[in-house]
Amino acid sequence: AVFAAGAIGELSNVWGELSQASGSAERLNELLEVRPGVTDPASPVRLPEPPRGELAFESVGFAYPGAPERAVLRDVSFRVRPGETVAIVGPSGAGKSTLINLALRFYDPTAGRVTLDGVDIRAATLEDVRARLALVPQDPVVFAATARENVRLGRQAATDDEVEAAAREAGAHAFIAALPQGYDTLLGERGVTLSGGQRQRIALARALLRDAPVLLLDEATSALDAESETLVQQALAVRGARRATLVIAHRLATVLAADRIVVIEDGAVVEEGTHAELVARRGLYARLAELQFGRVDEALRVAAG
Ligand code: ATP
Repeated sequence: AVFAAGAIGELSNVWGELSQASGSAERLNELLEVRPGVTDPASPVRLPEPPRGELAFESVGFAYPGAPERAVLRDVSFRVRPGETVAIVGPSGAGKSTLINLALRFYDPTAGRVTLDGVDIRAATLEDVRARLALVPQDPVVFAATARENVRLGRQAATDDEVEAAAREAGAHAFIAALPQGYDTLLGERGVTLSGGQRQRIALARALLRDAPVLLLDEATSALDAESETLVQQALAVRGARRATLVIAHRLATVLAADRIVVIEDGAVVEEGTHAELVARRGLYARLAELQFGRVDEALRVAAG
């Protein structure tokens, strides 16, 4: 799981939701005070306008501050171009979530750099960087508020029509409309409890409402949650031409929908290609695909349409 690694991970998760909630610099700063390693540069560079939506990892090496001798990422390079969807696949502990942590600048790489629209994200302000990213966490927080308010956290100024449009795009409208009071239904602790897939759809609606050029998606692992099966296709179907999507993929439908798959093992990129290309290579991806998605020949058949 992405943000399950201790207290800092918890904070990260909170931040992810907060940024979606408000983009408020003050709240970010509150959290930054407990993250002294990551600071704004003295003379920040502005990210290019208009945003292109390109995220690149360039020879990135990384070790967590608590375990500096243990390389979690080694010489990782790949690029998510504007409008492109890249799926990250790899065994548990390979470093997938760490990539998202670095893109959000919860940590800085120990080697190489992460760039947004060609700018090293360490050279820009955190606010500027995070304004261009939207995160759909694996286990999003749904607040004790109405469904409408929960979606509106993506952009407080959004109208009811915009909230509903985002919910439709995220595939959340149908289940919201079916709630006892529709969009006015109270969710969370004292209200209606949503499934994991429904919570991800709420989070996707928030992200779409923010309309950030780069979407980071940590797909739910629960195989039981059939609703999230098409979450990624949903996101992809509505993405603007400029939006780039990086998804930690756990589902066959997702890797089939991706433009490229980057396979990481033990902190390094070991394969890159489409599902069909990687299955044909019979390497790590083919083995993982067989484990995760069932028989590979069946997966190939699906890939062939
Ligand atoms: P999973 O699929 O199980 O979520 P992953 O591929 O996302 O795994 P990461 O969560 O990125 O892997 O973890 C990569 C390595 O870094 C693991 O060995 C993990 O134990 C370690 N790690 C993750 N977070 C921290 C942290 N905050 N401090 C120290 N080590 C960490």
